[in-house]
Amino acid sequence: MAAVGALDLRIHGVVQGVGFRPFVYRLAKRHALAGWVLNGESGVVVHVEGALAALDAFAHAVVDEAPAAATVASVQTTTGVREGFRDFVIRASDPTADRPTARIAPDMAACDACLRELFDPDDRRYKYPYINCTDCGPRYSIVLALPYDRPNTTMAPWAMCARCAAEYHDPADRRFHAQPVACPACGPTYVLRGDGREELRAAAAIDAAAALLRDGAIVAVKGIGGYHLACDAANAAAVGALRERKYRKERPFAVMARDLATARALIELDGEAEALLASVARPIVLAPARRILNGVAPDNRELGVMLPYAPLHHLLFASGAPGVLVLTSANRSSEPMVFDNDEALASLAGIADAFLTGERRIARRVDDSVARVTAAGPSVLRRARGLAPQAIATIPSTRPILAVGGDLKNAIALVVGGQAFVSQHIGDLDHVPARDAFDETVRDLCAMYGMREDELLVAHDAHPEYASTVYARAMAGEHVAIQHHRAHVASVLAERGAWDLEVVGAAFDGTGYGDDGTIWGGEFFAGSVRGGFTRVAHLRGAPLPGGDAAARFPVQAAAGFLSELSDLPDLGAAPFGFPARYEHARAMIEKNVRVFRTTSMGRLFDTVAALLGFTREITFEGQAAMWLEHLATTAAETAPYDFPLSAGELDHRPLLRAVIDDRARGRDAGVIARAFHTSVVGAIVRVHGELGEGRPLAASGGVFQNRLLVESLHARLGAALWLNHVVPANDGGLCLGQAALAATEARARQSV
Ligand code: ZN
Ligand code: ZN
Ligand code: FE
Repeated sequence: MAAVGALDLRIHGVVQGVGFRPFVYRLAKRHALAGWVLNGESGVVVHVEGALAALDAFAHAVVDEAPAAATVASVQTTTGVREGFRDFVIRASDPTADRPTARIAPDMAACDACLRELFDPDDRRYKYPYINCTDCGPRYSIVLALPYDRPNTTMAPWAMCARCAAEYHDPADRRFHAQPVACPACGPTYVLRGDGREELRAAAAIDAAAALLRDGAIVAVKGIGGYHLACDAANAAAVGALRERKYRKERPFAVMARDLATARALIELDGEAEALLASVARPIVLAPARRILNGVAPDNRELGVMLPYAPLHHLLFASGAPGVLVLTSANRSSEPMVFDNDEALASLAGIADAFLTGERRIARRVDDSVARVTAAGPSVLRRARGLAPQAIATIPSTRPILAVGGDLKNAIALVVGGQAFVSQHIGDLDHVPARDAFDETVRDLCAMYGMREDELLVAHDAHPEYASTVYARAMAGEHVAIQHHRAHVASVLAERGAWDLEVVGAAFDGTGYGDDGTIWGGEFFAGSVRGGFTRVAHLRGAPLPGGDAAARFPVQAAAGFLSELSDLPDLGAAPFGFPARYEHARAMIEKNVRVFRTTSMGRLFDTVAALLGFTREITFEGQAAMWLEHLATTAAETAPYDFPLSAGELDHRPLLRAVIDDRARGRDAGVIARAFHTSVVGAIVRVHGELGEGRPLAASGGVFQNRLLVESLHARLGAALWLNHVVPANDGGLCLGQAALAATEARARQSV
């Protein structure tokens, strides 16, 4: 008789809501083992007993054959005590375990097996918009509390019918313990409302919505993490109407393409970008446009494209919706995306012609994620649906940390058990709805991981007037302020787990509160996460008349930077054509009224954009810099302007002088824009060369979302260039850097 024994396993990682228990069940059966599996609050717990060889094979297969959607971070295996089980069972979740580090999975796109059923007329879920299984479907957007079981989700109101229940309880079925399982007989469906029409349900609603889209209507469509406004992307009149009704003048819209072939005709995709586009997270992928869709992404080299992810999207296209749809977050202007049915009907009246609403409630707003692939690797510009709330880094801290990010493109991070969970993108905190969403997300994440406010170390930006700072300081527990640009640099290093490595850091953005209270944004640092960062060089300072208003008017930023030059030509005249606002801003500087100091690289980009023709008000953040980048890509690589470093200051004066002279003598604006980009790249390479001593250059901040800049820099520095790949280079990544620096500061304090 073979030797027998028992094993206890504790499996940590993304192992809940991804079919892990049924997988373990089938694996145990296959190896003829008895025992049980359950969802504990710190992961999946397994007890198996049987032949020693089978136990060994089981322990390996748990890792090697784990479901595709799962990520096994660690397995603790200990010899167990045989209790004489005769069968293997899935036990009820254990709500009593102490510290929760269990992780909820992000939402997943409909899988191929579900799509086959969706379009099979003989299947009982034919055309059912809420089809899902253990390999696909919603997770984070429907979970109300952990552990992840149906009563803790927004599917709780729907009792399973006998057939769904049979699948749910059958270990051999691919819907075994799929919490959102449902069918047309027992589950929620979609309803089409509005436009004075009679209410339509299910397939009839989807068919009618597709017909409306074909006719050029704007339809509010409920997705996984919120509502979208949809219209035919090839119908310029519909796109124009959407812009007008939404008060969204120029900011690019993302589109959804029916399939990969359609996407390939829209944007330039390589293998890596295609894999990203088709990944289970289904982000919006930004890539150079191949086809111009009028009004969709004006003055932009790139177009954002995504593929269908909710079963509903597949049904809309199959029902004859146009092959490329504008699919933009449903909101008014810059407010957060609407995700509640009543709120949608109320706040989108007058924008949408009709509403395709789903009956399943969305537990929390989760926008579409945005990502791209450049020559320097993949990057994420917005982490949300499909990516949140993944644990994305290991932080060396036993103490729980809440990092609240900044006020723009806010996202927060919670460090529990040494793992950093980063929230979905929340948005700019200058509107009440976004502040409410921020507050909800803080409560949400803390509740989900059982954290009490008073046990947290709360990290926030050093800006005393940020809403996030004020919020953090009002929380119980200990607080720590982290300087904005150091947090940017630390975010790059935290992604790689580089705590002690000495680097040169470059943090370029529009605005951040500096050590001296001035507006920083063109900063170089030396140091490490553990040892801290010393500012070693920066863009030469300039006056910034009007403070924040200067960020909206490139000519106002220009007034500040150009006040450092003498003998300027008349910039009100051709070819510059600056509006009166420029002279007003100059007068402010002369009288020293509301004038701040800045080293912002973002404002330097704005200044050059103004000199090359962008003299109006911007309508979204970063617009002038994007315009300048687009202009630069129209020209070939060209020699840089003089942008010298002396006494730790990058002097912009010779650079701006050359731009003005070139422009005045009629040099092509695209060539000038290109030369400017080359100058910035050259300056970074020079500073790195002088201070780097072979260390990596960690570059972050919103300016490094510029594809041309990043690709040119990568061409010069190669592997020495370290960029963000997991969190955004923009302020959406601040929270991770704050958490990393807070963790090391906390340790420093403890060791004193
Ligand atoms: Zn599926
Ligand atoms: Zn059913
Ligand atoms: Fe920033």
